[in-house]
Amino acid sequence: MRFVTFEHEGSAEAGVIMGDKIVGLKGAGFPTMLSVIEGGPEALDKIASWLDARPGTNGAVPVAKARLLAPLPRPPKIICVGLNYRDHAIESKMEIPKVPTIFAKYPTAVIGPGQPIVLPKASRKPDYEAEFAFVIGKGGRHIPGDRWQEHIFGYTNFHDASARDYQMATSQWMMGKTFDTFAPMGPAIVTTDEVPDPHALDIQMIINGEVLQSSNTANLIFRLPALIEYLSGVFTLEPGDVVATGTPAGVGFARNPPRWLQPGDDAVVRISGLGELRNPVVAE
Ligand code: ZN
Repeated sequence: MRFVTFEHEGSAEAGVIMGDKIVGLKGAGFPTMLSVIEGGPEALDKIASWLDARPGTNGAVPVAKARLLAPLPRPPKIICVGLNYRDHAIESKMEIPKVPTIFAKYPTAVIGPGQPIVLPKASRKPDYEAEFAFVIGKGGRHIPGDRWQEHIFGYTNFHDASARDYQMATSQWMMGKTFDTFAPMGPAIVTTDEVPDPHALDIQMIINGEVLQSSNTANLIFRLPALIEYLSGVFTLEPGDVVATGTPAGVGFARNPPRWLQPGDDAVVRISGLGELRNPVVAE
């Protein structure tokens, strides 16, 4: 299933995409995306039978007319992996990591598809990063790598917008990564049953129609089992936590001349099977 959060009758509601329509899930007892994820496999079964029992897509909203929000407007945690593609580590003039490089974004950075990335006045080096993200279903601590599939609810597109001057000002990257609007996510969370192999997905960043990053998740240095084991060895993974797995080569700061994000840009993160996350870029 493909889950979204959309504006419905004045508030945010979880929904599932059925063809060209969105069916809101409040009536099925799941008003928010987090309530779906926390419900585990039983929630997915309940939603599937509820959808089967409905008369067609009565009362559904056409996707084209709906205002989509981030599929998870307030994830409990947003965990990001740095330098997780060999070619990007090389273009960044950094060593190929032997241990995952981890940083975080705050939930206040999250926006949905179509919402503008606001370039902060304070930064002169705003940059783009296309990323593949997974969403934790069943939480846990000390999860062995080979149990990774039991703990993932689904997958989504993620844009790790980055202010390079703030990021590189100290050894800690976080302040460059968590400006408001710097975590676009979506359009949907696609459940694992629809993505047979998360390590075989084409990923691209396309700005104003030009492909600036193009790779495949087969090139991840630390794959999903290793990341889940490493992260849960330190802290408890919870339902709805989002893990952005890193970006491939082609980012703006590594180009000559650098290609910074500019007001008026149209940024698209495209991942095979997950669709397109499109965000306009505006000045603060
Ligand atoms: Zn990144």
